[in-house]
Amino acid sequence: MRQELQDELYAKYPNIFAQKDLPITQSCMGWGINVGDGWYKIIDELCQKIQDHTLEVKRTYKKFNPQASQVKEKFGVLRFYIDGADEYIYNLIDEATAKSAKTCDVCGADGHCASYRRWWVTLCKEHSAEYIAKSGHSIDEVYYDEELPEDFDDSETT
Ligand SMILES: [Zn+2]
Repeated sequence: MRQELQDELYAKYPNIFAQKDLPITQSCMGWGINVGDGWYKIIDELCQKIQDHTLEVKRTYKKFNPQASQVKEKFGVLRFYIDGADEYIYNLIDEATAKSAKTCDVCGADGHCASYRRWWVTLCKEHSAEYIAKSGHSIDEVYYDEELPEDFDDSETT
């Protein structure tokens, strides 16, 4: 993601991105927000909802302090790892991940998550054509559904 977009998110949600300056040995947030510009809106909306929810919970539980530990793209979809979250926030993240599988990560237009010679990317028609022209890789498989394939592994954090 472009530096200025990333900085906007950091400025808007300082508590969620409190780990951004920690050394890599302590938090993967040090790698920055590793997704395409097209997902800016998805992350912005997700963080807004997390922030609103956090303020709500803090009224009764002051220690509540969810912090993103890594934000990246994996297998063509958004991976948003967070420390100290609750079930409500995990559901918000699942929604955002499902949305990312239908949103071009380059431009934010409607897209499909597809595998280009085993490399998963979510792109709109135009950027898919561009990707194929550049890489020479054709599409092997496309996921149109909200359901992600079962073998999408989100346990790994690298
Ligand atoms: Zn696009």
